[in-house]
Amino acid sequence: MLSLVSSSRTLSRTAATRSVVGSWVAQRGLATAQDPYDLVVIGGGPGGYVAAIKAAQLGLKTACVEKRGSLGGTCLNVGCIPSKAMLNNSQIYHQALHDTKARGIEIGDVKLNLPVMLKAKDKSVKGLTSGVEYLFKKNKVDYIKGAASFASPTQLDVALLDGGNTQVEAKNILIATGSEVTPFPGIEIDEKQIVSSTGALDLQQVPEKMVVIGAGVIGLELGSVWSRLGANVEVVEFLGAIGGAGMDGEVSKNFQKILAKQGLKFNLNTKVLGASKKDGKVHLEVEGAKNGKKSTIEADVVLVAIGRRPYTEGLGLDKIGVEVDNRGRIVIDSQFNTSVPNVKCIGDVTFGPMLAHKAEEEGIAAVEYIHSGYGHVAYNVIPSVVYTHPEVAWVGKTEEDCKAEGIEYKVGNFPMVANSRAKTNNETDGFVKVLAEKNTDKILGAHIISNVAGEILAEAALAMEYGASAEDVARTCHAHPTVSEAVKEAFLMASSGKAINA
Ligand SMILES: Cc1cc2nc3c(=O)[nH]c(=O)nc-3n(C[C@H](O)[C@H](O)[C@H](O)COP(=O)(O)OP(=O)(O)OC[C@H]3O[C@@H](n4cnc5c(N)ncnc54)[C@H](O)[C@@H]3O)c2cc1C
Repeated sequence: MLSLVSSSRTLSRTAATRSVVGSWVAQRGLATAQDPYDLVVIGGGPGGYVAAIKAAQLGLKTACVEKRGSLGGTCLNVGCIPSKAMLNNSQIYHQALHDTKARGIEIGDVKLNLPVMLKAKDKSVKGLTSGVEYLFKKNKVDYIKGAASFASPTQLDVALLDGGNTQVEAKNILIATGSEVTPFPGIEIDEKQIVSSTGALDLQQVPEKMVVIGAGVIGLELGSVWSRLGANVEVVEFLGAIGGAGMDGEVSKNFQKILAKQGLKFNLNTKVLGASKKDGKVHLEVEGAKNGKKSTIEADVVLVAIGRRPYTEGLGLDKIGVEVDNRGRIVIDSQFNTSVPNVKCIGDVTFGPMLAHKAEEEGIAAVEYIHSGYGHVAYNVIPSVVYTHPEVAWVGKTEEDCKAEGIEYKVGNFPMVANSRAKTNNETDGFVKVLAEKNTDKILGAHIISNVAGEILAEAALAMEYGASAEDVARTCHAHPTVSEAVKEAFLMASSGKAINA
């Protein structure tokens, strides 16, 4: 029996049932308040949908309410997946234009067909979002299409996408409502000329000049996409370094050099004051953060990429007294409990890095707490990746962290130019840098620039999760020739002071 409770204000049982995906749901009909769900998840992003599937797998009667009209949240619809589709295909285009002749491949007339590239992106999004719907059916998670708001700590009002309202009863509620683009005060996003990441994933023509406000992960990824497709890209950043907080200083400097070589222009220590539209252009007023010098940059498209903020609009948190901090994040304890009993919270809408895999880990752990009373997320081992070309990936502490925390550390560094596979593939930009505790050799962090950095970082994360020493990785046999040998060599250098091949 389902736990969709008809209220006097709600639409008919038939319409409410129709809004729940899957004919098996319709056959089972509606339930009563005496038979509530064990868990209702609000939000079908990577945090919410993974939590819902896990809960159902553990035998909890579970529903997920999502108002977007498709599952997968920011990540699958307007984030990780469409951006990676554009990154991958723009890189293939760029390579076909500039990097095949010396490899003995002569390609005739290389042309960009942007509408088809955008369609290919939409196709991957559709495939993956409907894949999540299939997983819901397979695992018997009820998918309720609508916007949820709290009526009480155990009851949600849902404004159904099909029209009308219904109420859902649950013993536990998990908030996973994610985040939204942080607006730039005074600059109005129209998603055509002044765009957020969402608009930047769907530009209908390549701008001649694009200005990106913010040199964080999203700005650099999407700036790279349009630069490869032919735009002149200029990045304006208030801070003195690119990559955002968390990127190792040495890595950030090298990464900036690589991107500059690719044609991206950087204005660091530069403050954006405002923007105006004139004669089909955007005029961006900027000021030197150190010298106060003002100037105007003209652009066809401006991408505002200054970050994301927690999203709780319309949830009715104040109605049940869920505590929120001064940055709009829902306050939770180490077991994902909010200030209201039986209401938990995970993902972008609460503390920590706004990353899909972090939200997923939290979703699993929160459900395990509900099911068994135990759960765990290793927050010191959450990888970060910038999916440019080359990629930048890291996990654990930076050198700056070690210094700030007074940890004595040693460094192992191995350049990609000395790795046989990277050299053979002509992918020699970058290096592997690892940090280990001086006295114990315990791995503290790993930082990689490489075309496959995101993939080869996983072994460093696994090693950290198991509490490995640098020597443990150095003594692990790595296949030859692989880029992962550079990881082994960096750990060898950290543990013994010397690498073999450099
Ligand atoms: C351009 C871009 C690229 C990114 N690339 C990466 C990447 O490569 N790797 C990575 O790890 N992360 C990436 N991210 C970040 C990633 O998308 C988020 O960290 C992740 O989606 C957070 O998951 P979540 O489940 O917490 O929230 P979300 O994915 O934001 O999902 C929340 C869902 O809740 C729904 N919702 C909100 N309120 C209600 C309500 N009241 N009722 C019903 N439904 C509601 C929303 O519609 C939404 O679908 C990227 C983000 C962007 C914008």
